[in-house]
Amino acid sequence: MLVVQKFGGTSVADLARIRACAARSLRLARDGHQVVVVVSAMAGETNRLIGLANELVGYDGSGKGPYVSHAKAGDTAHERELDQLLATGEQASAALFAMAVQSQGGSAVSLVGRQIGMVTDGAFTRARIRGIRRERIDAELSAGRIVVAAGFQGVDASGNVTTLGRGGSDTSAVALAAALGADVCEILTDVDGVYTTDPRLVPSARKIDRITHEEMIELASLGAKVLQIRSVAFARRFGVPVHVRSSLHEREGTWIVPESPEMEAPVVSGVALDRNEAKVTVVGVPDVPGTVATIFGALGDAGIVVDMIIQNASRDGITDVTFTVPEADLERAAGILTDLRIEGRPLQVVTDPRICKISIVGLGMRTHAGVASRAFRALAAEKINVEMVSTSEIKVSVVVHERYGELALRVLHEAFGLGEAPDASG
Ligand code: ADP
Ligand code: ASP
Ligand code: MG
Repeated sequence: MLVVQKFGGTSVADLARIRACAARSLRLARDGHQVVVVVSAMAGETNRLIGLANELVGYDGSGKGPYVSHAKAGDTAHERELDQLLATGEQASAALFAMAVQSQGGSAVSLVGRQIGMVTDGAFTRARIRGIRRERIDAELSAGRIVVAAGFQGVDASGNVTTLGRGGSDTSAVALAAALGADVCEILTDVDGVYTTDPRLVPSARKIDRITHEEMIELASLGAKVLQIRSVAFARRFGVPVHVRSSLHEREGTWIVPESPEMEAPVVSGVALDRNEAKVTVVGVPDVPGTVATIFGALGDAGIVVDMIIQNASRDGITDVTFTVPEADLERAAGILTDLRIEGRPLQVVTDPRICKISIVGLGMRTHAGVASRAFRALAAEKINVEMVSTSEIKVSVVVHERYGELALRVLHEAFGLGEAPDASG
C-alpha cells in the first residue's frame, strides 16, 4: 500500500511528539508500505512568523482573518516575502521529522515544495495547485525511503515560493495522495475525527464514523477548521479515500466518503461556528435597477467575497442592503462603499464586526421540511435574536450577535439530537 500521512501542527508541536509520529510512520514502513508524510509547521509557528511580519510593517494585527496581515493585502512584494517566510515553518518540521525517523534506524528524506514538484499559480498566500511532478518522490520511495514533504507550500512558474492558505497542509496531503494514487490519505490531528461540532466548544459532540464529501465541504466552509475546504474538494474530485484520525492512538477516526444510496442521511450531520465574518449595512439606497450591481460589482472587483445578502423591502423607493464579508476585509469593504456614488449620492455605510454565523448541515435536509423553523424555535427559546438567515439545499445559516455564538451552537447541536446519548447510569 501507498499511504500519505499528514501530521498537523499540534501533532509535531515538540520533539517528543515528532519522535512519536515518526515512530508511527516507521512502523507503517516496516510493515511493508510506502509512506509519504506531509507535515505542518510546529504548533504556533505560522502565527509567530505572521506576528513578526506584522510587527515589522507596523500593523497591529487587528482584524482577524486568514493572514492577519491584511493591511498589506494586495501588496505583491510583501506577500511574496510572507510566503518565503511562512514556508520555513514547514521546512523546519519536515527536516526534524526526517531526522527523527533516521534516529530510530529508518530511512527518510525531507523535501520542500519545489522538491516535491508542487507547482502552483502565483497568487501568494492563497496559491492554487496547478500540478505535481512526482519524479523525485517516486525515486525516493523506490530507494526505500520515507518521504517527508513540507506541507502548505509550492512553487510558481517563475520559481517563487508560494503558500496555499491557512490549513493548507491538508490540501498538500490530499493533492499528493491524488497525484501518487495513494490507497489512503490519513489526516492525523489532535481530535479523534470529525465531530458533530467542534468538541472543544461543545463537550457532548459525537464523533462521526463516515461523512460525505458534500457535507464535509459545507462544514469546512462554514467554520469547522478540522479540514481545509480545498482538501475535501480535491478528495471528491479525484476519489482519494481520506481518513481523519488522532495522531495519539490508532483507533478509527472518520472516513470522508462519496454519497451512496444505502447510506441513511441524517437530517442534520453537523453544526459549525464561524467567527470571522462581519456585517455591513448600506442604508437608504435608491431602490432602482443597478443598485446592487454597483455595490457588489465594486466589492467583487476588489476580490472581496460577499456571503449572506439581504435587501429589505423598499419604502418610498429607498431600501437597505445588508450582507456579510470576511472580517479581515471589513475595513477595505467599508472604504470602497464610502467612495461609491449611486445617482450622484454617497452611500451611508454601517459596519458591525460583532457577529458570528452558525450553520447546520445535513444531506437529509433535501427531503425534510421544517429544519429552519425548528432551528428558529430553539434559538427563540433561549432568547437569541436571529439577525440574518440564509439557506441552501443542505444547510441553514443564521447570523447572531457574537456574544451568543457558543450558546447558539450548543442550542442547535442539542435541538437536532446530535449530542452523545446521556449516560443511562447517571
Ligand atoms: P491540525 O493542526 O492537525 O491541522 P487544526 O487545529 O487545523 O489541526 O484542526 C483540528 C481542530 O479543529 C480541532 O482541535 C477542533 O478544535 C477543530 N474543529 C472544529 N470543528 C470541528 C469538528 N466538527 N470536528 C472536529 N474538530 C473540529
Ligand atoms: N502551518 C499552516 C497554518 O498554520 C498550514 C497548516 O497547518 O496546514 O495554517
Ligand atoms: Mg489544520
